[in-house]
Amino acid sequence: MNKDAVRRHVDEVLGGPLGEDGGETHYLCPFCRERRPAGETGRLHVNYEKNMCLCHRCQWASRDLLNIVRAITGSVPKRLLRRSLRNFYDEVKSLMDDVQAGKKVRVRLPKHFTPIVVNDRNRYGRAMYSYLRSRGITDAQMESCGIGYCGDGEFEGRIVFPVYVMGSLTFWTTRIVLGGGKKVLSADDGREVSVFNYDRCAGKKTVIVGEGPFDALAFERAGYGGCATFGTFVNDSQMRLLGKLPCDELVLCFDEDAIAVAAKTAEKMARVVPQLVSYVRWRGPDADEVSKGRVKTRIRNRVNLDLEGRIRLMLGEKKGGRK
Ligand SMILES: [Zn+2]
Repeated sequence: MNKDAVRRHVDEVLGGPLGEDGGETHYLCPFCRERRPAGETGRLHVNYEKNMCLCHRCQWASRDLLNIVRAITGSVPKRLLRRSLRNFYDEVKSLMDDVQAGKKVRVRLPKHFTPIVVNDRNRYGRAMYSYLRSRGITDAQMESCGIGYCGDGEFEGRIVFPVYVMGSLTFWTTRIVLGGGKKVLSADDGREVSVFNYDRCAGKKTVIVGEGPFDALAFERAGYGGCATFGTFVNDSQMRLLGKLPCDELVLCFDEDAIAVAAKTAEKMARVVPQLVSYVRWRGPDADEVSKGRVKTRIRNRVNLDLEGRIRLMLGEKKGGRK
């Protein structure tokens, strides 16, 4: 990654540095809406050499400076991406253009969206942070997925999961935490061309496809690429998107009540995507409610479609031989 280009872009996005000290450049933190106290410099310290940053006020931190850019502007320019990802980027972009042909969908985050930070002074922010932690989600995941919440407005009391494809916001979905109303509310547009946590699956050998964000992030914590299709229906565009991922294997892993759907979907998907396709016969509580070890064991016991076909064939032959 070109450090100077990143720096120029971050400067632009954050509104210019306020100071510098020991290799760190200081900015006003956009995440805790820091106001500049007289005589002080910004609390968000960015280290361009190490590609890291930390706000000393709200503890928002990242090991990838492109995450700041994405969190604030909703997208990362192609020129800032790693060279190895640029082909992938082009392919996915042209796929998205193809799918969205005729109707340019422009998705915006809810009006009162606020990123989750560790030291939030807002009552909602504190509750949301504790809730996410109780569901196993790590600080690093909150930051890299750009998870936030609404403390006001139509989506008050909800966690918001933004969905990015190639660094651009394509969809978002919410989960109620405080107050009443439907458990899940989502953006009106964009679901059909979105896969949650898609970009972060690039570079993983095995990618697990789950139903929702909590599953996806549980798979990621177990060491796999983890993504989600918002329910058990994987549409054609989502299949094509998954087919573009530079991975060896796609594993469908739905909740216990949808094993048959996972098997069916895997069969359909195997005809569309170039990767190996498998599925998991998941039993018991959802992925984010069991230990990492258990998630791994179950995924290790996945059903490989080719293998299953061969087993069926063998069994068939045996039966035939017995007559
Ligand atoms: Zn901050």
